[in-house]
Order: sequence, then structure tokens, then C-alpha cells
Amino acid sequence: MTKLRADYIKEAVNPADFYRHELPDARLKQSGWNDGGLCPFHADNKPGSFRVNLQTGAYRCFACDAAGGDVIAFTMALHGLKFVEALAQLARDWGL
Ligand SMILES: [Zn+2]
Repeated sequence: MTKLRADYIKEAVNPADFYRHELPDARLKQSGWNDGGLCPFHADNKPGSFRVNLQTGAYRCFACDAAGGDVIAFTMALHGLKFVEALAQLARDWGL
């Protein structure tokens, strides 16, 4: 059940839309890995180490080692949520 819901949310939430919303200051291009601007997972003051993938939703910071494979992982890490809580938040935020 939870896995079905997770699959549904990953289908429904477009990573490009998601990161444009979460990282409004980043200059995100069309697809693949992008410079994500300042890393939201450490006290970042110089852009360049945080990357997001607008196709898969994966993210990685080369300065603080924050990393995850999709928008659910990003939501969990950013807000300190458990998996099911992150699903609920994404569903709420994206009207699913
Ligand atoms: Zn970082």
C-alpha cells in the first residue's frame, strides 16, 4: 500500500516542477543534473556543491554529503520526516 502510494507520488510529482518550487533561487535547466544553488542541508554560502537531477529527483551535495534518490528522500531529509509522513506532505502540497 505504501509502496503503491510512493510510486504514484513519484509519477505525479514532476522533479523539475518540484525543485523549481523548493529551490526558487536556483537556475534550473531542462533535464538531467543541474546546479541546485545553495544547499538546503548545510549552512551553504557559496553555490556550486549542490546538484539536483530534474529527471529522477535525485540530489547530492559534495560539501556536506547530503544525498537521496528522489523527491520523497529530499522531502524526508529537508523536513526531518518519516517516509509515510513525507508521502503525506507531498500529497498535500501537490494536491494529490
Ligand atoms: Zn550541503
